[in-house]
Amino acid sequence: MALTGLDIYKQLPKKNCGECGPPTCLAFAMALAAGKASLESCPYVTDQARENLASASAPPIKLVRVGDVELGDETVIFRHDKTFLHPTGIFIEVSDDEALDEKIPLVNDLVFERVGQQYKVDGVALRCRSGDASRYQAALEKVAAGYAGALILDVKGFDGATADNVVKTVAARKPLLFAATPENYELLVELAKKHACPLAVSASGLDGLADLAQKCAGAGWKELVLAPSVTGLSAALADFTQMRRLSIKKKFRPLGYPTLAFTSATDPLEEIMEAQMYVAKYASAVVVKACRKEELLPLLSWRANIYTDPQKPIQVEAKVHEVGAVSENSPVYVTTNFSLTYYSVEGEVEGSKIPAYILPVDTDGTSVLTAWAAGKFVAETIADFLKKSGIEGKVSHRELVLPGHVAVLSGKLAELSGWKVVVGPREASGIPAFARQRYAG
Ligand code: SF4
Repeated sequence: MALTGLDIYKQLPKKNCGECGPPTCLAFAMALAAGKASLESCPYVTDQARENLASASAPPIKLVRVGDVELGDETVIFRHDKTFLHPTGIFIEVSDDEALDEKIPLVNDLVFERVGQQYKVDGVALRCRSGDASRYQAALEKVAAGYAGALILDVKGFDGATADNVVKTVAARKPLLFAATPENYELLVELAKKHACPLAVSASGLDGLADLAQKCAGAGWKELVLAPSVTGLSAALADFTQMRRLSIKKKFRPLGYPTLAFTSATDPLEEIMEAQMYVAKYASAVVVKACRKEELLPLLSWRANIYTDPQKPIQVEAKVHEVGAVSENSPVYVTTNFSLTYYSVEGEVEGSKIPAYILPVDTDGTSVLTAWAAGKFVAETIADFLKKSGIEGKVSHRELVLPGHVAVLSGKLAELSGWKVVVGPREASGIPAFARQRYAG
């Protein structure tokens, strides 16, 4: 159970010195209970009290690293409560009984550029389907040589010495060891501790999972990822939701770890929908079998939608952007630095096949009309940006294209900047026709 503010207060020094930020120990205790303060802020707290309060100051879901991929450390159930912090890790399942020379390049190719961001999968889960340790070892060496992302190793069926040899091969990459069960957890905890690798914990039912996680933690290893063994989508949804609620709302420590899901559907489209459910609620990592670009792009886009903080619009850098082989005669388009706006314009300028400069004015990542209504995309800011951007040294003309939605700015902008202002199309989709008519030839 989570400690209350009063429980915490009893452990504090009661000096009321205010050095922690809040003016009194009680106010600090309340902030700590609400997860809005860190115990480190009080320099007078005793070691004993620190130990007693560890559960109150620790994050509700532990941060665990698998290779370079950070999992967990979420603090809310719904994104609109605050934000989600660590996108669900997406792992592609490969196995030791398939043609890895063909599969690994496919996985490496799962990289997409969207609105200035790179979407890619995070890792590979190597299953042992052959049941043959030497074959698994050979497959692992192939994966390790051909793939640089995070790894999940299937070591649950190996004896101690074999598992140790397998893990040793890639221990420096901190793979996730799959998985400790009620039968083998002592062996796997020792293996995880020896190589400092994160350990997946798998058991049926939340009670069983919590019990096993406690045993692993009690055995001295807390870099855990919980992988509930569950059949059926609705049961999985219920378990993952309960785990998130119990860890965040109740601060129930035995379930306060990142979670791992495996899809079960065999049809690729159904599998991606299943994986989308896990991304939304509430897997920290999901393993999928699909690995074609057209299958993964919807999943990666879905993840980007859910894990993009709506309070921080994605932006492009406010500078002179060149599209194509520009020259001093190339047209100059002005827009805002909201990524979706900018890349809509860039795509259409590219489509016009007439090289051009695009100047995205810094409007804190808002679109043209929103920025105009907020006073961020007005004649003064555009004229100022024209001067500071350096565009005047790149073109020999003085003509810029203003978005049609803000045609009202054209007169004042021309006056302030000394540039000829041409009113362009209202929508980006009108740019190719506009450019061909005005700038072709
Ligand atoms: Fe109390 Fe410590 Fe804060 Fe001082 S720094 S007010 S002793 S909690």
